[in-house]
Amino acid sequence: MPKTSTPELLCNYLRDLIADPLQVNLDMTALPSAWQPFGERLLVLTHYLQEEKILCTALAAGKIRNLQLPHSDNPLAAPLKNIHDTILALINLLEQVADGDYNRRLHSKNELSEAFNAMVERLISLVMIDGLTGLLTEQGFDEKAKKILAHTDKQYYLIAINVNDFKRYNALYGLKKSNALLKDIATQVQSICRENELCARIHADNFIALVYASNLQEVLDKVIANSKQLQVGLTFRTNLFRHGIYCIVDKNRTLREMRDCANLAMERINNIAETNIAIYDNRLHQQRQWENHILANFNEALISKEFILNYQPKFNLHTNKIDSAEALIRWFRPGGEIKPPEAFIRLFETNGLITSLDFYVVEMVCIELRSRLDQGLPIVPIAVNFSRIHLYDPFFVQKLKTILSKHQINPCLIEVELTETAIFESMDAMATALQQLHTEGFIVAMDDFGSGFSSLNILKNLQLDTLKIDRLFFNSFEKDPRVGELLTDIFSIAKHLNLKTVAEGVETKAQFDFLTTTACDYIQGYYCSRPLPTPDFFALLSAQA
Ligand code: C2E
Ligand code: CA
Ligand code: CA
Repeated sequence: MPKTSTPELLCNYLRDLIADPLQVNLDMTALPSAWQPFGERLLVLTHYLQEEKILCTALAAGKIRNLQLPHSDNPLAAPLKNIHDTILALINLLEQVADGDYNRRLHSKNELSEAFNAMVERLISLVMIDGLTGLLTEQGFDEKAKKILAHTDKQYYLIAINVNDFKRYNALYGLKKSNALLKDIATQVQSICRENELCARIHADNFIALVYASNLQEVLDKVIANSKQLQVGLTFRTNLFRHGIYCIVDKNRTLREMRDCANLAMERINNIAETNIAIYDNRLHQQRQWENHILANFNEALISKEFILNYQPKFNLHTNKIDSAEALIRWFRPGGEIKPPEAFIRLFETNGLITSLDFYVVEMVCIELRSRLDQGLPIVPIAVNFSRIHLYDPFFVQKLKTILSKHQINPCLIEVELTETAIFESMDAMATALQQLHTEGFIVAMDDFGSGFSSLNILKNLQLDTLKIDRLFFNSFEKDPRVGELLTDIFSIAKHLNLKTVAEGVETKAQFDFLTTTACDYIQGYYCSRPLPTPDFFALLSAQA
């Protein structure tokens, strides 16, 4: 059998790489030494394409849900296409070399290696350099950071930087302005990096910097100065950026693990927090361990019915009767501790468990309603909260219907509550889901209206059934007369749009009395009733019949 030449071997390798990055393996020992540097760089490229493939597969299978789904304007897609085109050009060149054809057309001896190098350089820069900002990519950062950390005794820190609500910024200001903001951030972050320090854009609005310092205060000063500088020229928001700092105490960790720590610290900062800097510490470490523990015990908790429902009545302002209620989850931990939803919903949203929990809630509600219907007892429609993650599941409505059918519950008895933010961030998915929900006969409510970026346009276009006005309005109702005026207008606009309205978080008689003067339909709040344990709520319902 004739021996395969090196260009042929590489051609085959590159073809396989494009076909399925996960299946290829470059045998470096088969490459002559002159080709080894080229091989090493191809391995970096291979690694990158393998990660992309894993990510895209996971996205397509719905295993990762809190990332953008792949579509044509996905920022991941553009560099990938460039890489594929460049690999094809490289294959073409290698084929010509293998045929001896290219050699014949060479004018100088160096031309071939120059052509190779140029293409490989282009490939490497596509992988290592972020096309938008010119900063390093995740791969480029990890490669370089590994080298820096291997040859230093200095104390290094990782700083994760993220734009708060970047998606909203994007939606409000458009792609061009958002890209310009990302470039400005890149320039600023780059400017704080000295020799042997690095920064990169990991993806979207996530940046990372590797810096050294003699102590944490020095890093904090740097971050604060950076944060101030980032705000320059931005007048619309005071707390636009957040930073997470990880002090690299263990160099044996992978860079991904280190970045995870910086990100974890950063993610703990919520948008309304006073500070926009968080440091990874032991407490966070313990919290993560606790989270891992509850994640590991989630299924068991479901089976042993640790998740219990409370029902909060909604009163009809015209009849003063309970017309419906909202199911609210509580977690009764073994040992007696009761965890409120804030303690676990967000965590469950980051790993997809929330979908199981929400369906569990629907099933509990259906079981309760079926039992009462069978006994001839009075019932009312029940609102159930659904996480935004369902909107990305094309089978969401079908799954919901299956649960209801199992218990023979009419969809008009279940009100699907989705938050304003979820709807705002997933408009296309929401429009599809809404149509399906309505076709099946479900009632759909926008929850927490007014807590985020409310848009009357969304209300006009989406044809929801109910608008739940966020309880935040009532925080300043007594102090600021404009709140009442604003609420009056919201209720009357909603009426014009044929939307039922629920005022949430009504706590005082003054708020209640005011609402009776408006076009508001229902109230839900401590003034009328706190969320009640299941038997108490249904006893109340029976009593009013
Ligand atoms: P939400 O959907 O806005 O639910 C209303 C929250 O406001 C409830 O808190 C309720 O107890 C509280 N609330 C009601 N009236 C008043 C009042 O007059 N004053 C004050 N200060 N608060 C009042 P809860 O039960 O702690 O639920 C918090 C959030 O957790 C819910 O907010 C909802 O977003 C989420 N949640 C609860 N159950 C579920 C669930 O089964 N699935 C999902 N995905 N989310 C859930
Ligand atoms: Ca709700
Ligand atoms: Ca709400």
